Amino acid sequence: MKALKPHLLALPDYPYTMAQALIKLDQNESPYGLPPELKAELASRLAELPLNRYPRMHAEALAERIADFEGWPESGVVVGPGSNTIIFALVAASQRVLDVQPSFVHYKHSAHLLATPYQAVPLREGFELPVEELQEALNNGEPGVFFLPNPHTPTGTFFAPERVSALCQTAAAAEWLMIVDEAYYQFAPADMKRQALEQPNLGILRTFSKAWGLAGARAGYLLAGEEVARVVRNLLPPFGVPSPTALAVELALEHPGYVTEAVEKVRRERERVYLELKAHPTWEAYPSHTNFLLIRTPDAEAAYLGLLKRGVLVRRQDHIPGLEGAIRVTIGTPVENDAFLQAAFDLAKEEREKEKELDDATGED
Ligand code: PMP
Repeated sequence: MKALKPHLLALPDYPYTMAQALIKLDQNESPYGLPPELKAELASRLAELPLNRYPRMHAEALAERIADFEGWPESGVVVGPGSNTIIFALVAASQRVLDVQPSFVHYKHSAHLLATPYQAVPLREGFELPVEELQEALNNGEPGVFFLPNPHTPTGTFFAPERVSALCQTAAAAEWLMIVDEAYYQFAPADMKRQALEQPNLGILRTFSKAWGLAGARAGYLLAGEEVARVVRNLLPPFGVPSPTALAVELALEHPGYVTEAVEKVRRERERVYLELKAHPTWEAYPSHTNFLLIRTPDAEAAYLGLLKRGVLVRRQDHIPGLEGAIRVTIGTPVENDAFLQAAFDLAKEEREKEKELDDATGED
Protein backbone atom coordinates (compact mmCIF):
# COMPACT_ATOMS: atom_id res chain seq x y z
CA MET A 1 0.00 0.00 0.00
CA LYS A 2 1.38 3.37 -1.03
CA ALA A 3 -0.81 5.52 1.23
CA LEU A 4 1.11 4.69 4.39
CA LYS A 5 4.71 5.44 5.37
CA PRO A 6 6.59 2.36 4.24
CA HIS A 7 8.69 2.00 7.42
CA LEU A 8 5.47 1.47 9.42
CA LEU A 9 4.42 -1.56 7.40
CA ALA A 10 7.65 -3.32 8.27
CA LEU A 11 7.56 -2.60 12.02
CA PRO A 12 6.69 -5.34 14.52
CA ASP A 13 3.66 -4.90 16.78
CA TYR A 14 4.04 -3.78 20.40
CA PRO A 15 5.48 -6.84 22.16
CA TYR A 16 2.61 -8.00 24.35
CA THR A 17 0.50 -11.12 23.94
CA MET A 18 -2.59 -11.53 26.03
CA ALA A 19 -2.97 -14.83 27.91
CA GLN A 20 -5.61 -16.01 30.39
CA ALA A 21 -4.74 -17.34 33.82
CA LEU A 22 -6.24 -17.50 37.28
CA ILE A 23 -3.40 -15.45 38.74
CA LYS A 24 -2.25 -12.52 36.62
CA LEU A 25 1.25 -11.37 37.46
CA ASP A 26 2.41 -10.21 34.03
CA GLN A 27 1.80 -6.43 33.76
CA ASN A 28 3.02 -4.91 37.02
CA GLU A 29 -0.45 -3.81 38.00
CA SER A 30 -1.44 -3.24 41.61
CA PRO A 31 -3.26 -6.24 43.08
CA TYR A 32 -5.41 -3.87 45.16
CA GLY A 33 -7.02 -1.00 43.25
CA LEU A 34 -9.44 1.47 44.81
CA PRO A 35 -10.81 0.43 48.23
CA PRO A 36 -14.53 -0.53 48.19
CA GLU A 37 -15.75 2.73 49.81
CA LEU A 38 -13.96 4.79 47.15
CA LYS A 39 -15.39 2.57 44.41
CA ALA A 40 -18.87 3.27 45.79
CA GLU A 41 -18.16 7.01 45.88
CA LEU A 42 -16.84 6.83 42.31
CA ALA A 43 -20.00 5.06 41.15
CA SER A 44 -22.18 7.82 42.59
CA ARG A 45 -20.02 10.57 41.06
CA LEU A 46 -20.06 8.77 37.71
CA ALA A 47 -23.86 8.68 37.80
CA GLU A 48 -23.85 12.50 37.82
CA LEU A 49 -21.29 12.88 35.03
CA PRO A 50 -22.61 14.50 31.84
CA LEU A 51 -21.19 11.97 29.36
CA ASN A 52 -22.84 13.82 26.46
CA ARG A 53 -20.28 16.61 26.99
CA TYR A 54 -16.63 16.59 25.97
CA PRO A 55 -14.08 16.56 28.76
CA ARG A 56 -11.69 19.51 29.25
CA MET A 57 -9.20 19.93 26.39
CA HIS A 58 -6.15 18.76 28.37
CA ALA A 59 -7.75 17.60 31.64
CA GLU A 60 -7.02 21.03 33.13
CA ALA A 61 -8.95 20.40 36.36
CA LEU A 62 -7.07 17.17 36.93
CA ALA A 63 -3.76 18.85 36.03
CA GLU A 64 -4.51 21.44 38.73
CA ARG A 65 -5.07 18.68 41.31
CA ILE A 66 -1.85 16.96 40.28
CA ALA A 67 0.02 20.26 40.50
CA ASP A 68 -1.26 20.67 44.10
CA PHE A 69 -0.48 17.08 44.99
CA GLU A 70 3.06 17.25 43.58
CA GLY A 71 3.88 20.86 44.50
CA TRP A 72 4.60 21.60 40.84
CA PRO A 73 3.65 24.69 38.78
CA GLU A 74 0.44 23.94 36.92
CA SER A 75 1.87 25.25 33.65
CA GLY A 76 4.38 22.36 33.71
CA VAL A 77 1.89 19.52 34.31
CA VAL A 78 0.76 17.51 31.28
CA VAL A 79 -1.86 14.79 31.70
CA GLY A 80 -2.38 12.03 29.16
CA PRO A 81 -4.46 8.85 28.87
CA GLY A 82 -1.54 6.73 30.15
CA SER A 83 2.09 7.82 30.34
CA ASN A 84 2.62 5.79 27.14
CA THR A 85 0.84 8.54 25.22
CA ILE A 86 3.12 11.16 26.78
CA ILE A 87 6.19 9.12 25.84
CA PHE A 88 4.91 9.00 22.26
CA ALA A 89 4.34 12.78 22.25
CA LEU A 90 7.81 13.40 23.71
CA VAL A 91 9.37 11.25 21.00
CA ALA A 92 7.28 13.03 18.35
CA ALA A 93 8.74 16.30 19.65
CA SER A 94 12.34 15.12 19.82
CA GLN A 95 15.16 15.38 17.30
CA ARG A 96 16.59 12.06 18.46
CA VAL A 97 16.15 9.56 21.26
CA LEU A 98 18.77 8.23 23.65
CA ASP A 99 17.98 5.21 25.82
CA VAL A 100 19.70 2.45 27.75
CA GLN A 101 19.48 -1.22 26.80
CA PRO A 102 17.54 -3.05 28.15
CA SER A 103 14.86 -0.51 28.99
CA PHE A 104 11.13 0.11 28.87
CA VAL A 105 10.36 -0.92 25.29
CA HIS A 106 8.00 1.96 24.48
CA TYR A 107 10.80 4.55 24.05
CA LYS A 108 12.38 2.50 21.27
CA HIS A 109 9.05 1.41 19.83
CA SER A 110 7.89 5.05 19.60
CA ALA A 111 11.18 6.16 18.04
CA HIS A 112 10.82 3.48 15.36
CA LEU A 113 7.16 4.35 14.71
CA LEU A 114 8.01 8.03 14.38
CA ALA A 115 11.18 7.39 12.35
CA THR A 116 13.22 9.29 14.93
CA PRO A 117 16.98 8.61 15.18
CA TYR A 118 17.50 6.22 18.09
CA GLN A 119 20.55 5.22 20.08
CA ALA A 120 20.82 2.92 23.09
CA VAL A 121 23.75 2.43 25.45
CA PRO A 122 23.93 -1.02 27.09
CA LEU A 123 23.78 -1.24 30.87
CA ARG A 124 27.00 -2.46 32.47
CA GLU A 125 27.53 -5.82 34.11
CA GLY A 126 25.08 -6.25 37.01
CA PHE A 127 22.67 -3.75 35.38
CA GLU A 128 24.82 -0.80 36.44
CA LEU A 129 24.22 2.61 34.95
CA PRO A 130 26.85 3.27 32.24
CA VAL A 131 27.39 6.90 33.28
CA GLU A 132 30.56 7.60 31.27
CA GLU A 133 29.24 5.97 28.07
CA LEU A 134 25.98 7.90 28.37
CA GLN A 135 27.90 11.13 28.95
CA GLU A 136 29.87 10.43 25.82
CA ALA A 137 26.65 9.87 23.86
CA LEU A 138 25.19 13.11 25.26
CA ASN A 139 28.30 15.09 24.39
CA ASN A 140 28.73 13.71 20.88
CA GLY A 141 26.10 14.61 18.36
CA GLU A 142 22.95 16.67 18.15
CA PRO A 143 20.76 16.90 21.25
CA GLY A 144 17.43 15.13 21.67
CA VAL A 145 15.46 13.43 24.45
CA PHE A 146 17.14 11.00 26.83
CA PHE A 147 14.77 8.55 28.57
CA LEU A 148 15.83 6.83 31.77
CA PRO A 149 13.40 4.74 33.82
CA ASN A 150 14.33 4.91 37.51
CA PRO A 151 13.59 2.51 39.16
CA HIS A 152 14.63 0.73 36.03
CA THR A 153 12.44 -1.63 34.10
CA PRO A 154 12.69 -4.50 33.23
CA THR A 155 15.47 -5.13 35.79
CA GLY A 156 13.96 -3.56 38.93
CA THR A 157 17.28 -1.84 39.71
CA PHE A 158 17.37 1.58 41.37
CA PHE A 159 20.10 3.90 40.07
CA ALA A 160 21.66 6.10 42.77
CA PRO A 161 20.38 9.71 42.52
CA GLU A 162 23.97 11.10 42.43
CA ARG A 163 24.66 9.12 39.27
CA VAL A 164 21.39 10.18 37.66
CA SER A 165 22.21 13.77 38.68
CA ALA A 166 25.61 13.54 37.00
CA LEU A 167 23.86 12.55 33.77
CA CYS A 168 21.39 15.34 34.19
CA GLN A 169 24.22 17.91 34.46
CA THR A 170 25.81 16.60 31.27
CA ALA A 171 22.42 16.59 29.53
CA ALA A 172 21.83 20.22 30.58
CA ALA A 173 25.25 21.36 29.34
CA ALA A 174 24.70 19.58 26.00
CA GLU A 175 21.11 20.93 25.73
CA TRP A 176 19.38 17.55 25.91
CA LEU A 177 16.03 17.05 27.57
CA MET A 178 16.30 14.25 30.10
CA ILE A 179 13.14 12.40 31.13
CA VAL A 180 13.33 10.27 34.25
CA ASP A 181 10.43 7.85 34.01
CA GLU A 182 9.31 7.30 37.60
CA ALA A 183 6.50 4.83 36.91
CA TYR A 184 7.60 2.86 40.02
CA TYR A 185 8.94 5.65 42.25
CA GLN A 186 6.65 4.81 45.19
CA PHE A 187 8.47 1.48 45.60
CA ALA A 188 11.96 3.06 45.63
CA PRO A 189 14.02 4.93 48.25
CA ALA A 190 14.22 8.31 46.42
CA ASP A 191 13.07 10.29 43.38
CA MET A 192 14.26 13.20 41.24
CA LYS A 193 11.36 15.63 41.61
CA ARG A 194 13.17 18.20 43.75
CA GLN A 195 16.03 18.43 41.30
CA ALA A 196 13.65 18.58 38.33
CA LEU A 197 11.96 21.62 39.88
CA GLU A 198 15.23 23.50 39.53
CA GLN A 199 16.29 22.15 36.16
CA PRO A 200 14.18 22.93 33.10
CA ASN A 201 15.96 20.27 31.05
CA LEU A 202 14.82 17.52 33.43
CA GLY A 203 11.28 16.17 33.26
CA ILE A 204 9.59 13.52 35.42
CA LEU A 205 7.08 11.03 34.10
CA ARG A 206 4.61 9.34 36.46
CA THR A 207 1.58 7.09 36.12
CA PHE A 208 -1.60 6.12 37.94
CA SER A 209 -1.28 2.57 36.57
CA LYS A 210 1.01 1.03 39.20
CA ALA A 211 0.95 2.07 42.87
CA TRP A 212 -2.36 3.94 42.48
CA GLY A 213 -4.07 0.78 41.17
CA LEU A 214 -5.78 2.58 38.28
CA ALA A 215 -4.27 0.89 35.21
CA GLY A 216 -7.72 0.46 33.69
CA ALA A 217 -8.52 4.16 34.00
CA ARG A 218 -5.48 5.08 31.84
CA ALA A 219 -3.82 8.18 33.21
CA GLY A 220 -0.25 9.40 33.46
CA TYR A 221 1.48 12.76 33.70
CA LEU A 222 4.61 14.69 32.95
CA LEU A 223 6.16 17.24 35.30
CA ALA A 224 8.31 19.55 33.21
CA GLY A 225 9.16 23.16 32.45
CA GLU A 226 6.51 25.35 30.86
CA GLU A 227 7.97 25.28 27.34
CA VAL A 228 8.37 21.50 27.17
CA ALA A 229 4.91 21.03 28.68
CA ARG A 230 3.28 23.25 26.08
CA VAL A 231 4.91 21.40 23.17
CA VAL A 232 3.99 17.97 24.56
CA ARG A 233 0.41 19.06 25.31
CA ASN A 234 0.04 20.21 21.71
CA LEU A 235 1.16 16.82 20.48
CA LEU A 236 -1.46 14.98 22.53
CA PRO A 237 -4.95 14.68 21.08
CA PRO A 238 -7.28 17.43 22.32
CA PHE A 239 -10.01 16.20 24.72
CA GLY A 240 -7.96 12.98 25.05
CA VAL A 241 -8.40 12.20 28.76
CA PRO A 242 -11.92 10.74 29.15
CA SER A 243 -14.04 12.43 31.82
CA PRO A 244 -14.65 9.16 33.78
CA THR A 245 -10.87 8.76 33.97
CA ALA A 246 -10.37 12.30 35.23
CA LEU A 247 -13.10 11.69 37.81
CA ALA A 248 -11.54 8.45 39.06
CA VAL A 249 -8.08 9.99 39.34
CA GLU A 250 -9.36 13.15 41.07
CA LEU A 251 -11.11 10.96 43.62
CA ALA A 252 -7.95 8.89 44.16
CA LEU A 253 -5.93 12.09 44.69
CA GLU A 254 -8.33 13.08 47.46
CA HIS A 255 -7.47 9.83 49.32
CA PRO A 256 -3.77 9.07 48.75
CA GLY A 257 -3.61 7.09 52.01
CA TYR A 258 -4.84 3.93 50.31
CA VAL A 259 -1.79 4.06 48.02
CA THR A 260 0.65 4.32 50.92
CA GLU A 261 -0.94 1.22 52.44
CA ALA A 262 -0.90 -0.74 49.17
CA VAL A 263 2.74 0.18 48.52
CA GLU A 264 3.74 -0.92 52.03
CA LYS A 265 2.06 -4.32 51.53
CA VAL A 266 3.66 -4.80 48.11
CA ARG A 267 7.14 -3.85 49.38
CA ARG A 268 6.84 -6.33 52.26
CA GLU A 269 5.68 -9.06 49.91
CA ARG A 270 8.43 -8.25 47.41
CA GLU A 271 11.06 -8.86 50.08
CA ARG A 272 9.35 -12.06 51.21
CA VAL A 273 9.13 -13.50 47.70
CA TYR A 274 12.73 -12.44 46.98
CA LEU A 275 14.00 -14.17 50.13
CA GLU A 276 11.92 -17.32 49.62
CA LEU A 277 13.23 -17.66 46.08
CA LYS A 278 16.75 -17.90 47.50
CA ALA A 279 15.92 -21.51 48.33
CA HIS A 280 15.00 -22.26 44.71
CA PRO A 281 17.54 -24.68 43.22
CA THR A 282 17.78 -23.13 39.74
CA TRP A 283 16.14 -19.69 39.72
CA GLU A 284 17.71 -16.46 40.89
CA ALA A 285 15.80 -13.25 41.59
CA TYR A 286 17.48 -9.86 41.26
CA PRO A 287 16.99 -7.30 44.03
CA SER A 288 14.14 -4.96 43.13
CA HIS A 289 12.96 -1.44 43.97
CA THR A 290 9.72 -1.85 42.04
CA ASN A 291 6.55 -3.96 42.33
CA PHE A 292 8.06 -6.81 40.32
CA LEU A 293 11.00 -9.22 40.36
CA LEU A 294 13.22 -10.13 37.45
CA ILE A 295 14.20 -13.78 37.75
CA ARG A 296 16.92 -15.62 35.87
CA THR A 297 15.95 -19.21 35.07
CA PRO A 298 17.73 -21.86 33.03
CA ASP A 299 14.92 -21.80 30.44
CA ALA A 300 12.38 -18.94 30.28
CA GLU A 301 9.98 -20.81 28.03
CA ALA A 302 9.84 -23.83 30.35
CA ALA A 303 9.41 -21.53 33.37
CA TYR A 304 6.67 -19.49 31.68
CA LEU A 305 4.73 -22.54 30.47
CA GLY A 306 5.24 -24.47 33.70
CA LEU A 307 3.85 -21.57 35.74
CA LEU A 308 0.98 -21.04 33.30
CA LYS A 309 0.04 -24.71 33.56
CA ARG A 310 -0.27 -24.10 37.32
CA GLY A 311 -2.48 -21.04 36.76
CA VAL A 312 0.15 -18.31 37.17
CA LEU A 313 0.81 -15.84 34.35
CA VAL A 314 4.20 -14.07 34.29
CA ARG A 315 6.07 -12.26 31.50
CA ARG A 316 8.97 -13.65 29.51
CA GLN A 317 11.93 -11.31 29.11
CA ASP A 318 14.32 -13.65 27.35
CA HIS A 319 13.84 -11.97 23.95
CA ILE A 320 15.83 -9.01 25.31
CA PRO A 321 19.61 -9.16 24.73
CA GLY A 322 21.36 -9.78 28.06
CA LEU A 323 18.23 -11.22 29.68
CA GLU A 324 18.54 -14.78 28.44
CA GLY A 325 16.40 -17.11 30.56
CA ALA A 326 14.69 -14.21 32.34
CA ILE A 327 11.08 -13.95 33.41
CA ARG A 328 9.39 -11.08 35.26
CA VAL A 329 6.79 -11.56 37.96
CA THR A 330 4.58 -8.85 39.42
CA ILE A 331 4.16 -8.84 43.19
CA GLY A 332 0.52 -9.65 43.91
CA THR A 333 -1.50 -10.28 47.07
CA PRO A 334 0.05 -12.66 49.64
CA VAL A 335 -2.26 -15.44 48.36
CA GLU A 336 -1.20 -14.83 44.74
CA ASN A 337 2.46 -14.73 45.73
CA ASP A 338 2.08 -17.99 47.63
CA ALA A 339 0.56 -19.56 44.53
CA PHE A 340 3.49 -18.30 42.46
CA LEU A 341 6.07 -19.61 44.94
CA GLN A 342 4.29 -22.96 45.21
CA ALA A 343 4.24 -23.27 41.40
CA ALA A 344 7.91 -22.23 41.13
CA PHE A 345 9.03 -24.88 43.65
CA ASP A 346 6.70 -27.56 42.24
CA LEU A 347 8.23 -26.93 38.86
CA ALA A 348 11.73 -27.37 40.27
CA LYS A 349 10.66 -30.65 41.89
CA GLU A 350 9.13 -31.88 38.64
CA GLU A 351 12.32 -31.01 36.76
CA ARG A 352 14.47 -32.82 39.34
CA GLU A 353 12.27 -35.90 39.06
CA LYS A 354 12.48 -35.83 35.26
CA GLU A 355 16.28 -35.56 35.42
CA LYS A 356 16.42 -38.42 37.89
CA GLU A 357 14.28 -40.61 35.64
CA LEU A 358 16.58 -39.78 32.76
CA ASP A 359 19.68 -40.55 34.84
CA ASP A 360 18.14 -43.86 35.98
CA ALA A 361 17.31 -44.76 32.39
CA THR A 362 20.85 -43.99 31.19
CA GLY A 363 22.48 -45.52 34.27
CA GLU A 364 24.26 -42.28 35.24
CA ASP A 365 24.69 -41.05 38.84
N1 PMP B 1 6.89 3.76 31.95
C1 PMP B 1 7.30 2.60 32.44
C2 PMP B 1 8.68 2.48 32.94
C3 PMP B 1 6.40 1.51 32.49
O1 PMP B 1 6.82 0.33 32.96
C4 PMP B 1 5.08 1.67 32.00
C5 PMP B 1 4.06 0.56 32.00
N2 PMP B 1 4.47 -0.70 31.88
C6 PMP B 1 4.73 2.91 31.48
C7 PMP B 1 5.63 3.94 31.48
C8 PMP B 1 3.37 3.14 30.88
O2 PMP B 1 2.42 3.31 31.84
P1 PMP B 1 0.94 3.83 31.50
O3 PMP B 1 0.83 4.08 30.04
O4 PMP B 1 0.06 2.76 31.98
O5 PMP B 1 0.82 5.11 32.30
